Amino acid sequence: MAQSTETTDWVSRFADEVIEESERRAPGAKTSGAAAPVVVVASGLSPSGPIHLGNLREVMTPHLVADEIRRRGYQVRHLISWDDYDRYRKVPAGVPGVDETWAEHIGKPLTSVPAPKGSPYPNWAEHFKAAMVESLAELGVEFDGISQTEQYTSGVYREQILHAMKHRGDIDAILAQYRTKKAPAKKQQQKPVDEAELEAAEGSGAAAEDDGSSGSAGYFPYKPYCGNCEKDLTTVTSYDDDSTELTYSCTSCGFSETVRLNEFNRGKLVWKVDWPMRWAYEGVIFEPSGVDHSSPGSSFQVGGQIVGIFGGEQPIGPMYAFVGISGMAKMSSSKGGVPTPADALKIMEPQLLRWLYARRRPNQSFKVAFDQEIQRLYDEWDRLEAKVADGSALPADVAAHSRAVRTASGELPRTPRPLPYRTLASVADITAGHEDQALRILSDLDPANPLASLDEARPRYDKAEAWINTHVPADQRTIVRDEPDTELLKSLDEQGRESLRLLLDGLAGNWSLDGLTHLVYGVPKVQAGFSADATPKELPAEIKTAQRSFFALLYQLLVSRDTGPRLPTLLLAVGQDRVRHLLGA
Ligand SMILES: [Zn+2]
Repeated sequence: MAQSTETTDWVSRFADEVIEESERRAPGAKTSGAAAPVVVVASGLSPSGPIHLGNLREVMTPHLVADEIRRRGYQVRHLISWDDYDRYRKVPAGVPGVDETWAEHIGKPLTSVPAPKGSPYPNWAEHFKAAMVESLAELGVEFDGISQTEQYTSGVYREQILHAMKHRGDIDAILAQYRTKKAPAKKQQQKPVDEAELEAAEGSGAAAEDDGSSGSAGYFPYKPYCGNCEKDLTTVTSYDDDSTELTYSCTSCGFSETVRLNEFNRGKLVWKVDWPMRWAYEGVIFEPSGVDHSSPGSSFQVGGQIVGIFGGEQPIGPMYAFVGISGMAKMSSSKGGVPTPADALKIMEPQLLRWLYARRRPNQSFKVAFDQEIQRLYDEWDRLEAKVADGSALPADVAAHSRAVRTASGELPRTPRPLPYRTLASVADITAGHEDQALRILSDLDPANPLASLDEARPRYDKAEAWINTHVPADQRTIVRDEPDTELLKSLDEQGRESLRLLLDGLAGNWSLDGLTHLVYGVPKVQAGFSADATPKELPAEIKTAQRSFFALLYQLLVSRDTGPRLPTLLLAVGQDRVRHLLGA
């Protein structure tokens, strides 16, 4: 069992709060000898289209808190409510297998909309849910998924629906306080956000949905889906509390019918009533929400007043800031430009993605890197791993690391030999899918301890390779020359020719990552009359300039550019024979 990490980070502090609240709500459970109540935390996801990385915070925040509570020995239920009985609001742009004809389904429940063409799933909601479920499994997120379609259409919430209808006057009075205040013009974000962030915000819930209709028959917090066209463009025209007879008419197709609500299962409570009803029904103690749910008059705030009608209490509900991305927009226009957790997991290990969410408090925004930044991020992660291993990391960093690499049920699968991501990316770049070459180069990095198989560097190697192939633009890829640049070689002065001779003479004896590093930095020192081992203190500042021009010369001769992957890695990747050929030996 993983150990609790004590009160060292935001996750621990929320866990303290949630446990305290759970015990307050069930006093005496411990002293009476009854089993401690199961702590319930919740997330809600709407499978209205691809579930974006921004929405992952909706799950990761309660997941991390639930996991900390589990580490302390409590029973926790992390509910993910799939809001798949929500109406289909719009046809998302750029989804493969979907065209404008899907617009005819707007207004139907998400589970009644056909899946994109070619999907193995029975409907729209299941199609997009499946991708998220797969990513959550890879991320080690343990949860209890609840389909709201199943709940509503099997009559699970019947009592709650009848109760809400009976108390529709009270609900209407609460909602009216906000209606009269006339919502201010769309709340301005405090800082400019990416298009991607905006997209994620839109997809993150039903905040924009209305709160029920007040027709001539009064206010009703319940909306049937039409018995003819399946759309929710219905108006309740009468309701009788005693018989529960409800009459509605459809403004879309003109259909009208009278049903008995105590046996009717094709409709749902409106969002602002549905959410607090579920807090009460499930006994939710912790459920964060995005900024779009937390403004004045928002569903979270209003829900706090409505939940009492159902005999429940509002959960602890921190607001979380949106997660942005860097470097993806250009690469993925075919998918609408917004990445999903699965896109992130193609280029990074689950530990790294977990770490991004664990190390920032929910109200801090951050970006998930799909550009060059991912290499720096991996360097930072590797340094943290080293510090944790030698005991020099700070407590909060140790906590974030622990939450990234394991859950209460165990360690996430690791890459056995976690070689530097930027090295793996360079090797994948240069070898372009030739695994035998990649293995040779990676083994040369540390000849005393070679790789027996590429699998030892997996899955990190595969992630770095996917990153190179899908997110690095063609003009930044490394293409090793086939033939020497004879023009450039001929134009070199004596000093230039000597630098290449010194390098070529040293290659065989230094064919490892460390050896080549020493060699490429050493050549300009030797040329300036110093020892190759001289330290920066012993050298004049000009040596840096000499090193820079030497490196630029090597890049030009090897890859016809001024820069490229780190030289020692590049030399190993190109191989000794080809290096000799290209440097004019
Ligand atoms: Zn209809």
